[in-house]
Amino acid sequence: MDKLALPAYDLLPETQAFLKQGTLKMLIGGDWVEAQSGETIDVFDPATGEKIIEVAAGGAEEIDLAVQAARKAFENPNWSRMSPTERGKLMWKLADLLEENAALFQELEVLDNGMTIVAARMAMFPFCSDMIRYYAGWPTKITGRTLPTDPTRYGLEKEALTYTLREPLGVVGTITPWNYPLGMLTMKLGPALATGCTLVMKPAELTPMTAVLLGRLIQQAGFPEGVVNIVSGKGETAGAALAAHAGVDKIAFTGSTEVGKIIVKAATGNLKKVSLELGGKSPFIVFPDAILEEVIPATVRASYFLQGQNCMAATRLFAHEDIYDRFVEGVSQLVKKFVVGPGMNPESTMGPLISSEQRNRVMDFVESGKQEGAELVVGGSKIDGPGYFIEPTLFSCPTDELRIVRNEIFGPVICVERFGNDDLDALARRANNTMYGLSGSVWTQNLSLAHRMARRIDSGQVGINCHAPLDVTHPFGGNKQSGWGREFGEEALDMYLKTKSITAVT
Ligand code: NAP
Ligand code: MG
Repeated sequence: MDKLALPAYDLLPETQAFLKQGTLKMLIGGDWVEAQSGETIDVFDPATGEKIIEVAAGGAEEIDLAVQAARKAFENPNWSRMSPTERGKLMWKLADLLEENAALFQELEVLDNGMTIVAARMAMFPFCSDMIRYYAGWPTKITGRTLPTDPTRYGLEKEALTYTLREPLGVVGTITPWNYPLGMLTMKLGPALATGCTLVMKPAELTPMTAVLLGRLIQQAGFPEGVVNIVSGKGETAGAALAAHAGVDKIAFTGSTEVGKIIVKAATGNLKKVSLELGGKSPFIVFPDAILEEVIPATVRASYFLQGQNCMAATRLFAHEDIYDRFVEGVSQLVKKFVVGPGMNPESTMGPLISSEQRNRVMDFVESGKQEGAELVVGGSKIDGPGYFIEPTLFSCPTDELRIVRNEIFGPVICVERFGNDDLDALARRANNTMYGLSGSVWTQNLSLAHRMARRIDSGQVGINCHAPLDVTHPFGGNKQSGWGREFGEEALDMYLKTKSITAVT
C-alpha cells in the first residue's frame, strides 16, 4: 500500500503563528513560565517525523509551584466563595472560546497527534465544548440532603437536624495521554471546575500544544489565577511528582493500565483519591441476523478510528460462523479502501501512528500474530518513507489465546474470530476473557438476545447495534483493569466531591 504525499496545503494563519512562537511555556499561578532547569521537549509531527516546536519540560520544582498555586486558588474566596451561577458563566465563556478557536485546535491536534483533519473535526467539536457546557450547568445543582436524626438515642432530650454538604475535594492533578489530547483535558476540567476544585494538569509529552492553547483561553475567560495550572513535562518526572505530591487531593488519570498501577502506588503517600481510565480490548459480537450492510462499515469505524489508537476500539470481532466469511470479506474490502497519508491531507482516511516507538510496538504484535498462526487477511506491513505509517491490518484468529487477541495493541491491527451456536454464557466468557472491561457491542435484530448478551458483557459500556456512542451525559469508564470510576455525566461529579454530614442538636 502506498501512502499519500503531504499536500501543498496552507495552514491557517493562526496555526502558522502558533508554531512560530518559540518554546511553549507552562501556566503556573497565572504566569507563563519556562522550566527552571531550562530544559525543553521537542514536539514532532508524526506524519513527517519533523520537529515542529518545543515545549518547556517541567519537573518536580514546577509541579510543586503549580500545586502551591492551585492550593492558594482553592482557598481564595474569589474562587471558593464564587457563586455557583458565576462559576457556570465562566465555564460557558470558556466553552464559547473553545468553539471560536475550533479550527486552530483541530489543526494543532492533527500536527501534534497525526489524526486526520476529518477525524479531528468529528472527534473534537462540539464534544470538547459540550463537555464544558454540560458541567457548566452543574454548580447550581450540587446539593446535599437532610437526614433523619434521633438524639434520644444518645440520651439527649432535644431535637436535632442532620444535613450533608457536598464539598470540592481540593487540588486535582490530571495526567492524560496523547490519543485525544484536548478531549482528555476537557473531560477532567469540566467536573473539576463545576465542583469548585482547582487543577494541575500534565498533558502527554507527545501532544502538549492544545493544552497550551486551552490554558490561554482559560485565562481569557477570566478564571482566577491558579485555578488551572498546566505543567508540560515527562511522565517519569513531572507526572510522577504530581502523582506523589502530598498537596494533591486527587489524581484523575487516563492512560495505560501499566502506568495506572504506578499512579496508584505513588498515591499511597497521602492516600489521595485516584480515578483511572485505562486500556481496553473491546469485543464486538455479530450475530447471524445482523444487517451486514450496516454492521460492516460500523465495524471499520469502530476498529480503525484514529488508527486504532483508541481505548474503546473494537479490537476483538466475534462473528457467527454462518456469516463469518461474508463479514470478513466485507470488512477487508473496506479496510483496503483506506487512504493512508498525512492527517492534513483532506484525502487521507488514515494517518500515522503517534511515534516511531509506537509503530515498532505495533509491528511487533503484527509479527507475533503471523508467527502464532493467525491468518493475515489484509495489511500487515510498515509503510516506508517519512512519518510513522503502517497498513491497516486484519487478522483472522483461530483461538482466543494469541498475544494479539489478549493484549491491547493500540494500533490499526484488529482480530476477528468465529463463534458457533454456543449458549450465551459460553460466548460471554469468551467476550470477557481479557483483563480489560471498557467497552463492547452486540449486533443483532433480535432485541431480546441483544439485551441478554449486553448484560453479560463485563464492560463499563455496551452498545446494541452501535459501538461506543460517547455522549457527555453518559457515564463512561472501565471494569476490571480498565479503570476505577466513571467520567462524563452526573456520576463524574462524585469523583470530585466529598460528602460531609453535619448534625446540630437544637
Ligand atoms: P501512558 O504511557 O500510560 O501515559 C499516560 C500519561 O501518563 C502520560 O501523560 C504520561 O506521560 C504519563 N506517565 C507515564 N509514566 C508516568 C509515571 N511513572 N508517573 C506518572 N505519570 C506517568 O499512556 P499513553 O501511551 O499516553 O496512552 C495510551 C494508553 O491510554 C492506552 O493504554 C489506552 O487504552 C489508554 N487510554 C485509555 C482511555 C480511557 O478512557 N479508558 C482513553 C484513552 C487512552 P508521557 O506523556 O511523558 O508519557
Ligand atoms: Mg510516554
